[in-house]
Amino acid sequence: MQKNIAVIRGDGIGPEIVAEAIGVLDAVAEKFGHDFRFAEVSMGGDAIDKFGEPLPDAELQKCKESDSVLLGAVGGPKWDGVEAHLRPEKGLLKLRQGLGVYSNNRPAKIWPQLKDASPLKPSITEKGIDYIIVRELIGGIYFGKHETVGDTAVDEMRYSEDEIERIGRIGFETARKRRGMLCSVEKSNVLDTSRLWKKVMCRLSAEYPDVTLSHMLVDNCAMQIVKDPSQFDVIVTENMFGDILSDEASQITGSIGMIPSSSLGDSPCGLYEPIHGSAPDIAGLDMANPIGTILSAAMMLRYSFDMEKEAEAIEKAVDAVLSEGWRTADIMPEDKTGCTQIGCREMGKRIREMIK
Ligand code: NAD
Repeated sequence: MQKNIAVIRGDGIGPEIVAEAIGVLDAVAEKFGHDFRFAEVSMGGDAIDKFGEPLPDAELQKCKESDSVLLGAVGGPKWDGVEAHLRPEKGLLKLRQGLGVYSNNRPAKIWPQLKDASPLKPSITEKGIDYIIVRELIGGIYFGKHETVGDTAVDEMRYSEDEIERIGRIGFETARKRRGMLCSVEKSNVLDTSRLWKKVMCRLSAEYPDVTLSHMLVDNCAMQIVKDPSQFDVIVTENMFGDILSDEASQITGSIGMIPSSSLGDSPCGLYEPIHGSAPDIAGLDMANPIGTILSAAMMLRYSFDMEKEAEAIEKAVDAVLSEGWRTADIMPEDKTGCTQIGCREMGKRIREMIK
């Protein structure tokens, strides 16, 4: 099957981790007889340097014309001083909005080989951690009006019933395919947007009798993720709460470098990226963990291209390489027992070879 993939390498460690994910996709193409074609797209600091803006319309258009988009990460100290509307992250927001991807899905799973890398006690991790955070991505406070007048700043948070309903449905559908438990997270004791959120979730639940819906306040959820993450199957929440909770969730699984994500809308064209940023502190040192990006490529095969066995081949290869004890620095256990530290390139190579 032929597929056109837009590739945004981005800034910092972005080019290093994306190169390894492309290598893995090439290995999958060779093994399963597919033809993956890659179109380079410039976004973030890279685009600011080349074009003076974080995502020119022509670059966005290349993404819209592709079957899916693979992204490394954007941003870094070099562009911290630029005007707010030109910041690298603005490219990301424009891309998400341009592709209409309103649902960001981040699995939080503990790999048995990495259970020692979790900062949680074994008595908590041994109960198992395997849940997904479904985050609304193109509404809420990040997309409201931002204004600073004198010494006062305002950020507006706005949600309509339609926006809540479409992400709510993704939450219910995802739970239906898993263990059938959906936890809706909001702050309905304070916020009007949250009260509307809860009302819509309750209305939708009548259409999904096979899914058990529960409600949790976001502050309690932040606590429960650390206290007993095994209670969660699928969490659905709005944009900013999801942003914060999913970073917290990533840490308890070991390393932010391990976690992939998919962002989907109504069309099969999705945006796939690791959840971490451009890690300027380790950029160019061949130290980055490429697994989050490689697993994002696996999600692309599964959710956008309907290539389940190809996606599984990548996941099994990652599992096998970890079982052999190969580790990038971020997932290296303190006592180093049975493990060997390798760089980003070597990790990519080992996963590729395992697939072949
Ligand atoms: P970060 O995720 O880049 O880094 C946080 C810490 O995690 C750092 O110590 C880093 O070395 C480590 N880390 C991250 N990814 C890793 C990997 N794959 N392997 C090993 N270690 C890894 O977050 P930050 O430092 O807050 O942000 C740095 C830049 O990235 C900022 O400019 C920020 O705006 C940007 N950012 C971009 C995205 C994105 O492109 N989607 C997301 C978050 C942050």
